[in-house]
Amino acid sequence: MAPTVAIIGAGFGGLCMGIRLQMAGITSYTIYEKAGGIGGTWRDNTYPGAACDVPSHLYSFSFEQRRDWTRRYPAQPEILAYLEHCADKYGVRPHLRLNTEVTSAVFDEAVNRWRVTTADGDERLFDVVVSGVGQLNRPRLPDIPGMSSFEGTSFHSARWEHGHDLTGRRVAVIGNGSSAAQFIPRIAPIADHLDVFQRTPNWVIPKVDGEYGPRERLAFQYVPLLQAANRERIFQFVENVIYPVLVDGWSKRLVTNRAQEHLKQQVQDPALRAKLTPAYPIGCKRIVIDNDFYPALTRPNVDLVTDPITRIVPHGIETAGGTVREADTIIFATGFRTTDFLAPIEIVGRQGHLLHERWKDGAEAYLGIAMPYFPNLFLLYGPNTNLGHNSIIYMIESQVRYIMGCLPLLSAHGPMEVRQATMDAWRRALDRAMAGTVWEASCHSWYKNAAGRVTNNWPRPAAVYRRISRAPRREAYDFG
Ligand code: NAP
Repeated sequence: MAPTVAIIGAGFGGLCMGIRLQMAGITSYTIYEKAGGIGGTWRDNTYPGAACDVPSHLYSFSFEQRRDWTRRYPAQPEILAYLEHCADKYGVRPHLRLNTEVTSAVFDEAVNRWRVTTADGDERLFDVVVSGVGQLNRPRLPDIPGMSSFEGTSFHSARWEHGHDLTGRRVAVIGNGSSAAQFIPRIAPIADHLDVFQRTPNWVIPKVDGEYGPRERLAFQYVPLLQAANRERIFQFVENVIYPVLVDGWSKRLVTNRAQEHLKQQVQDPALRAKLTPAYPIGCKRIVIDNDFYPALTRPNVDLVTDPITRIVPHGIETAGGTVREADTIIFATGFRTTDFLAPIEIVGRQGHLLHERWKDGAEAYLGIAMPYFPNLFLLYGPNTNLGHNSIIYMIESQVRYIMGCLPLLSAHGPMEVRQATMDAWRRALDRAMAGTVWEASCHSWYKNAAGRVTNNWPRPAAVYRRISRAPRREAYDFG
């Protein structure tokens, strides 16, 4: 009999898992989603200008390659529509439980199954649990004194208040990462005044974007080989040109120069340029890919503020030295709680082991997928599987294939639990590979936990991950 599978989250990961189960004829699965719709990060991030910085022809499932993307870099509504299409086409909708938040998953050793509890008090048993909650699902608000005293409107970039018209307002944006870089150019022309509070500058490289004309789209649609070749070309480019930047490879100088030129071309004022020049190696923090961010900062109604924020006051933001910058709207583009993986779900494994307790010094999992003491629990886009250069969908598909390979094993031999020795060897190999990456440099980033350990990123080419995660090795696991 096919195992029963609980999938947590209906973003790219959870949907991919559901689709692959469906394709294999396994219908004994439930996808729990705490929100009212599918799409994960692409449902949550609706800020103006939200788009992906992985080219569209690579940013789709291998088994459902969209050939009619309208742009080289897809915008959020188009990606969300693509996911809705996939959910319909592959018949996963009947398995979705929307507005249903999983609060705990406890492994019941008496029956060798997971007891999954949801916020509405419902409790069900499953053979397998797959987490598809990802890394960018919980907005992070900063801990700035006086935040609750602010009398204007404030919101996080991933919870955009579309009903709040920014026309003619004095807006403060805290943060200047990929999200801020995308919406700042959209709101700067309509705001009366915009203050961008930057703590650390980011490296920015140009985005070779543009619309696909009707002829190009037709060509991709009717000549599948052309689309496949384009996808492969993009994949090879990011693996062979962008990846080496992250490991002090041949292209680091080239890409650094390109970023410096971009800044020089777009910002004439030397003082502003100096503020925008990073003092850490390119790639240490997520590289921003954008053409409009710098020009927006040169507008007369925009100020880049680099004085540290000391507190938030009822009518604005106070910086070191006591200057108060008036604002009626504060937008927190302050990123996500990335190193808390799976929080706040309580995961209790064998012998009462708490996942969060085991991860208190930093999340880790064999292949980013499996952990000792947590039999038949698998993670998608788990620890050390984020990329700084390539498509996460490629990683997710690798992980789903691996988990699909686990199902016959655990059905035949009982619950499978990765061995501690396997986990330890994995950690050592990961540490060795990580030592050569730019993320270890002295910059602060969402790739690292508070102790400075890189818990989020995969340190080698994505193709290497695919190869080593091809299929489960039986000797890596204990069964039964
Ligand atoms: P982020 O990269 O984590 O940026 C957060 C920003 O907030 C940083 O500039 C950070 O400054 C600042 N910040 C945080 N706390 C602060 C504080 N207390 N005071 C002042 N500044 C503070 O978040 P994000 O821009 O939302 O992007 C997150 C990730 O999502 C990206 O790296 C990317 O992987 C993904 N993303 C992708 C796209 C795309 O495809 N184009 C778009 C959006 C997001 P510091 O740098 O000093 O910490």
